[in-house]
Amino acid sequence: LLRVSGITKSFGDNRVLDGVDFEVGRGEVVCLIGPSGSGKTTVLRSLNALETPDAGVLEFAGGQRIDFGARQSKQQRAALRDRSAMVFQHHNLFPHLTVLENVIEGPVRAHGVAKVTAVTDAERLLDRVGLSAKRDAYPHQLSGGQQQRVGIVRALALQPDLLLFDEPTSALDPELVGEVLIVLKELADEGWTMVIVTHELGFARRVADEVLFFDGGVIVERGAPKQLFAQPRNERTRRFLDRIL
Ligand code: ATP
Repeated sequence: LLRVSGITKSFGDNRVLDGVDFEVGRGEVVCLIGPSGSGKTTVLRSLNALETPDAGVLEFAGGQRIDFGARQSKQQRAALRDRSAMVFQHHNLFPHLTVLENVIEGPVRAHGVAKVTAVTDAERLLDRVGLSAKRDAYPHQLSGGQQQRVGIVRALALQPDLLLFDEPTSALDPELVGEVLIVLKELADEGWTMVIVTHELGFARRVADEVLFFDGGVIVERGAPKQLFAQPRNERTRRFLDRIL
């Protein structure tokens, strides 16, 4: 579905990404792990044009290609943004809109979907994550886990090819993490293509098709979770896992 090549990015003198390459197959779950500051979030944001790398190329199935080394038109950036939907660490719901209004906002405003259709879709998706009863509630009336599930539904409602998650559980109280991870696991089982930055290594081990271990702006090691967690080949991966597991 997506090939990422040579992504490089500096903030001032700080080179945070230095030639990142990977591929995401349709229906695959790719988890990005690694120490804080290793560049995971910057990669993820680049996939959705929230960050503009200095160099590198994204190629989507179907022929869409973005070369960050060249100038991109507004239309190209908009088209790139349309391929994926991002779920943030903090849900970023609109506080003055109800749950339902939050979910239909993207499809109606950005995609021009008819409101009745958007409402029907939103109700179906809210039901899927067990939040039908909350459709008319405001975000502040929900728990953190419920808010994050609405954030996920809002991304699904855009019907993207690719779902991007930036540490979707790290702002949650520990007892609320599980309910969000269950939803992510179900989406993976349903065949959604997902790229997930996560510190939940147990989750990555269960759900990922491929794990990319980042350190210092490069992918130090990659592989199937079974192999990477059980028998890391690289010393840096080993040290990271030893500290965390
Ligand atoms: P974490 O797990 O803590 O979120 P990360 O691996 O996702 O870390 P990034 O958030 O991608 O790492 O950050 C990589 C580096 O880029 C860090 O050193 C960070 O300080 C720097 N950085 C990120 N965004 C900016 C910015 N807008 N301006 C300047 N520096 C930035």
